[in-house]
Amino acid sequence: MSYASRSGPLECVIVGGGIHGTYLLQRLLEDAGLDREAVTIVDPHERLLDSFRRKARACEMTELRSTFVHHVGTEPFGLEDFAEARGRTDELLPTPGYPRRPSLSLFLDYADYVIDGNDLAALHRQASVETIRPTASDRDDGLVLETSDGPIRTRHAVLAIGHGGRYRRPDWAEGVDGVTHVWDEFDPDARVDETVVVGGGITACQLATCLAEREAVTVLSRHPVERAVTEADPRWINWNHIESHLHRHPSGSRARYETVGAARNDATVPPYLHDRLEAAVDRGDLAVRRGDIGSARTVDGTVRLLLADGGCLVADRVVLATGFAPVFEHPFVERVARNLDLERGYRGMAVLEDETLAWRRIDGGRSRLFVTGALAAGTVGPLAGNVAGARRSADRIAATLETEGDGLEAVSAGEETAGPEPSA
Ligand SMILES: Cc1cc2nc3c(=O)[nH]c(=O)nc-3n(C[C@H](O)[C@H](O)[C@H](O)COP(=O)(O)OP(=O)(O)OC[C@H]3O[C@@H](n4cnc5c(N)ncnc54)[C@H](O)[C@@H]3O)c2cc1C
Repeated sequence: MSYASRSGPLECVIVGGGIHGTYLLQRLLEDAGLDREAVTIVDPHERLLDSFRRKARACEMTELRSTFVHHVGTEPFGLEDFAEARGRTDELLPTPGYPRRPSLSLFLDYADYVIDGNDLAALHRQASVETIRPTASDRDDGLVLETSDGPIRTRHAVLAIGHGGRYRRPDWAEGVDGVTHVWDEFDPDARVDETVVVGGGITACQLATCLAEREAVTVLSRHPVERAVTEADPRWINWNHIESHLHRHPSGSRARYETVGAARNDATVPPYLHDRLEAAVDRGDLAVRRGDIGSARTVDGTVRLLLADGGCLVADRVVLATGFAPVFEHPFVERVARNLDLERGYRGMAVLEDETLAWRRIDGGRSRLFVTGALAAGTVGPLAGNVAGARRSADRIAATLETEGDGLEAVSAGEETAGPEPSA
């Protein structure tokens, strides 16, 4: 039976077709025993992984920071095998004291190979989910996803929304022409004489070193540009480590929030990129300046930045590489939590069951909504939003849906007359 002709609820809908959603989809098919017609992935982009591809292109990224075992496929050495079979092992880049890292093109070609080989695009429904609510029926406690393409009924859903597509914009940037965010309105192909890149992390430095090959560039950072190989100590990939260092604090607590924050090497730059940045500075192609921006305005087609220390910078354009707005406070997340009576912790953190990644209800029960990615950081830890976090989350979500699936077959047998949820 095809998805379109299915009359009853789906078993699971994944909200978000990025790295996490695409990886989890395979695990639900391979490990949780879900049928292809029982599962779908909803994402507004044309293709799975589009959002990641666009961001990588915007900052002219050429290689991954993470290692060759972190990718979209379910076989840990699948990417390495793929590279060997195609004579592309030179795209597994050596990193002193660290395993090799794939080039972006190898990573994405392998992702396409996985998506095509498993026909995953056929399970992608191009739409955005506006909210999720409980079904009106009292026969089950399933969910209805209100999407831009109509409602979808399902027994379970997984939020795999990444950071939710909202970017951090400083107040001084509001309404100033010529100031764009690297992942939003920024046009990487536009040519100008002089650019200021605001930020001191990997995205800022990656973009700046590439732009510096063709125009004058200043990186303006509030802090010194710091080196770190990975986004957090790799021990945070290990579930035992997560249990003993994160789960010892109460779910949703401030202690968990702060443990995650302290473990993340946010706004740091891997050594290979730091070396490139220093070389560009030494050649005189690029300047790095420390400072805080007090205000900005546009004068005669240029952007003038007034710094808190009284200094001034003038450029044809200013690009913000200032990261994401907090996903815990995302309006979509808040809406869903409200509709489903879900528990939230310190600073709006999603309170999940540590064993299953199901979002806990306020009454302490397990909801049918699961979470993977950055929104699961309170349970999966500082690498929750990274490629490695996708595997850790999927281990738990797939095992839970496999177990629950057995119990639900009986419910499903008595439900043949259930029709599609009427449009709202
Ligand atoms: C330039 C760049 C380089 C990176 N390099 C690395 C690296 O080397 N190693 C590493 O581990 N991590 C890296 N990261 C982190 C990286 O973002 C994550 O590893 C990964 O992209 C997160 O995947 P995700 O699926 O959680 O989120 P995303 O890739 O952001 O995907 C989320 C998807 O959810 C969709 N969505 C959101 N809201 C809704 C909604 N309401 N309805 C339907 N769909 C919705 C979005 O459209 C999007 O397609 C990098 C990130 C960037 C930006």
